[in-house]
Amino acid sequence: MAYALVKGITKFIEEDTEEARQNADKPIEVIEGPLMKGMDEVGDLFGSGKMFLPQVVKSARVMKQAVAYLLPYIEAEKGGAIQSKGKILMATVKGDVHDIGKNIVGVVLGCNNYDVIDLGVMVPCEKILQVARDENVDVIGLSGLITPSLDEMVHVAGEMERLDFNIPLLIGGATTSKAHTAVKIEQHYVSGSTIYVPDASRSVSVVSTLLNDKKNPEYASKIRSEYEVIRERVANRSAKLKLLPYKKANANPFTADWSNFTAARPAFLGTKVFTDYSLEHLIDYIDWTPFFITWSLAGKYPAILNDEKVGEAATDLFADAQALLKKIVDEKLLTAKAVIGFWPANKTAGNDVQLYATDESRAPLNKLHFLRQQIPKETELPNLCLADFIAPKSAENGTDYIGGFAVTAGIGAEELAAKYSAENDDYTAIMVKALADRLAEAFAEHMHQRVRKEFWGFDPAEEFSATELIHEKYRGIRPAPGYPACPDHSEKKTLFSLLNAAEETQIELTESFAMNPAASVSGFYFGHPESKYFSVGKITQEQVNDLSNRNGKPTAEMTKLLTPNLE
Ligand code: SAH
Repeated sequence: MAYALVKGITKFIEEDTEEARQNADKPIEVIEGPLMKGMDEVGDLFGSGKMFLPQVVKSARVMKQAVAYLLPYIEAEKGGAIQSKGKILMATVKGDVHDIGKNIVGVVLGCNNYDVIDLGVMVPCEKILQVARDENVDVIGLSGLITPSLDEMVHVAGEMERLDFNIPLLIGGATTSKAHTAVKIEQHYVSGSTIYVPDASRSVSVVSTLLNDKKNPEYASKIRSEYEVIRERVANRSAKLKLLPYKKANANPFTADWSNFTAARPAFLGTKVFTDYSLEHLIDYIDWTPFFITWSLAGKYPAILNDEKVGEAATDLFADAQALLKKIVDEKLLTAKAVIGFWPANKTAGNDVQLYATDESRAPLNKLHFLRQQIPKETELPNLCLADFIAPKSAENGTDYIGGFAVTAGIGAEELAAKYSAENDDYTAIMVKALADRLAEAFAEHMHQRVRKEFWGFDPAEEFSATELIHEKYRGIRPAPGYPACPDHSEKKTLFSLLNAAEETQIELTESFAMNPAASVSGFYFGHPESKYFSVGKITQEQVNDLSNRNGKPTAEMTKLLTPNLE
């Protein structure tokens, strides 16, 4: 059984468990004996870097299936319940739908004998705290990926303080960080520990230390002083950071040579819908490197497959991914949909882009609102804003265009993952979501190529390899709202209404502007040859006020949304 656990083999686990059960006095002893022993071995190998996350999740699958087999026997005995090491509540916060990381952490904690209560995604603070009370949990773990979730975590921390909680609060997810946890979250919750957990491999040691009465006090105070130091460091850095006044930044834009510019006219204006897009077409566009990052394996694809340290784990994981991907494609288990659009557009005086319905009528449609870098630049370098890449009306050839897209490959992913989870197969459930994410990004890449070749047509003969596409060798960009060049997530609302995306693609926006299904990508198409990705970085309140004047949304709301960017 230990061999099956370490190697992640489920094939004979029921027979082996049955044999062990027959040899044991009580069925619970099979768990306490051979299964625990096997999982301890897995834990040791993982801890010493000899096993990796995907392998541990496979081990957990073996464990879960053995325990599921024993459960009816244990219940029939009514004696000994399985002794858990503690109760952990996990949730993706309100407004956010991303849960791959949370699910991996849940599996890792679960197979280490913690009782995990997973409330799923988009969980309101009230529910988290109510269940924490009712179930008397030992730890709360919050997860989130998009920047608005950071603020929701601050809110939960404040509520924990207000409602007299004192259990540890764990923070994790892509945009979270130790600095954010120290600077923004920790001081709202002084009655308990707040701890940033960088990845699933750290979750067990953090939780076991926190729940150990002997080790906890020293650890908790160590974390507190560490976060205090981070706060001081950030404060010093911020004091030194002198942003340009918004006016000055605006006076230093990128200026293209508009007198020699003629925009390519898209093949159509307005929107174009793609329903049930062939998944097979997307496979070659998959960027596999982020897939390995999802599973905490560091290294670039394809070199990672031969990596000295993680090569074997990466190769096995990749083989499992290929098999499932083939099944998904052959059996059409996921549905991909997209809508793209093009509109005539001009940059306005104030960092906006005005869209028009048609070339002829120039009837104004929505405006898109962009943010400008305020970091002081070396001589000559502009303070960039995406609007700079669109021609102003005053340009010699005053006509320009902007595009937009929303693609998803996640329709059906939630149901498919749930089916595997119900079969005690979290490994495949997580794999489904990781692959759906890959297909969505591949769809964005593929559609962008069709745009350049067919629809916008400025490069009909373009022939880049997959690697060249990943390295963005092509003309133009597809910046996504919420990402560094346009960090305001709320622009997705305008984009979605222009594209009629909710109706055409079934992608919904949550109150935090997360896209549901999570395996979705949306953004703008910029065609200017000099357009490029950049990071807006830190901005002043002055710019946020100006933005709220431009987009008509309350300043308080915009301030909250852009907190991660505010100086
Ligand atoms: N090939 C990678 C792409 C990851 S980036 C993958 O498969 O995961 C995902 C998307 O984010 C890009 O396609 C682009 O739409 C957007 N993006 C990347 N950098 C950006 C930036 N600095 N500002 C705005 N959007 C960006």
